Amino acid sequence: MRYYIDTEFMESPGRLELISIGIVAEDGREFYAEAHFNENNANDWVRANVLPSLTVDARARMLHADIRETIRAFISTDKPEFWGYYADYDWVVFCWLFGPMVCLPKGWPMYCRDLKQELDRLGNPKVPFKADHEHHALSDAKWIKRAHEWLSQPAPRGEGRPG
Ligand SMILES: [Mg+2]
Repeated sequence: MRYYIDTEFMESPGRLELISIGIVAEDGREFYAEAHFNENNANDWVRANVLPSLTVDARARMLHADIRETIRAFISTDKPEFWGYYADYDWVVFCWLFGPMVCLPKGWPMYCRDLKQELDRLGNPKVPFKADHEHHALSDAKWIKRAHEWLSQPAPRGEGRPG
């Protein structure tokens, strides 16, 4: 089954710090968590765009180990296919929840498919809708799923894809 992933994170050279993660499964199941993170590390962009969109009380932020085990249970015995959007950094913070790359659960792919690459390949059609709340990881993950489904619909040659 496909799993659409988005994260919000803070970055500095050699370092990615998870803020939040959203996952939507192909069957519509959803997972969302906010991590313990150090707000002092937030740059101006994160302060302006990400922190205001967090939805979990700061006291309910989760340890990485708890996020990891909840994701493991969420995917369970399924054979996942992961999708992101400009996903490289998201994929690294996601994998780091499990430790070194070799510690990803057995049977999981060690790569994430990227909707941006798929859009490039198809001549960059403009996705005709936006996320409800951009920079909220679950909302963005829902957008990736919806955009992928939209992109996967057959479009007659020379006509726009259905919105
Ligand atoms: Mg996002």
